Amino acid sequence: MYYCRHLTYADLDRELLIIHEQVCKKLGIPVLGISSGARCPQCNKTVGGTEHSAHVPQNNASKLAEAIDVPMSDSNIKFRYARELFKNYDNIHRIEITNKHLHFDKGVKEDGFPQDVLVIKWI
Ligand SMILES: [Zn+2]
Ligand SMILES: [Zn+2]
Repeated sequence: MYYCRHLTYADLDRELLIIHEQVCKKLGIPVLGISSGARCPQCNKTVGGTEHSAHVPQNNASKLAEAIDVPMSDSNIKFRYARELFKNYDNIHRIEITNKHLHFDKGVKEDGFPQDVLVIKWI
């Protein structure tokens, strides 16, 4: 779990939170907390985030964080959550699933990382 104390929800693209709430409602589960949203470059480095992470507002054309991490360990929730993203949200271009969370972001071209990728990682 990681919070950057230098940035707030105002630095996060609200659409990501709306998507998150919609997906949780669709799954019939309480709206899960977010473990990471906007990160300043320094905190991003500390947490081991990639240099061009979509969590860092400065890396995106919108100057907002375009990624959130949702803590999640239940495999069935992960599956159903990811399925909703694939099915209903064309503007989500990257999904990363780890043993601890599900990350999704808008995968804006400007940050130089590939779009439309699914990453599975043990952290
Ligand atoms: Zn910070
Ligand atoms: Zn993330």
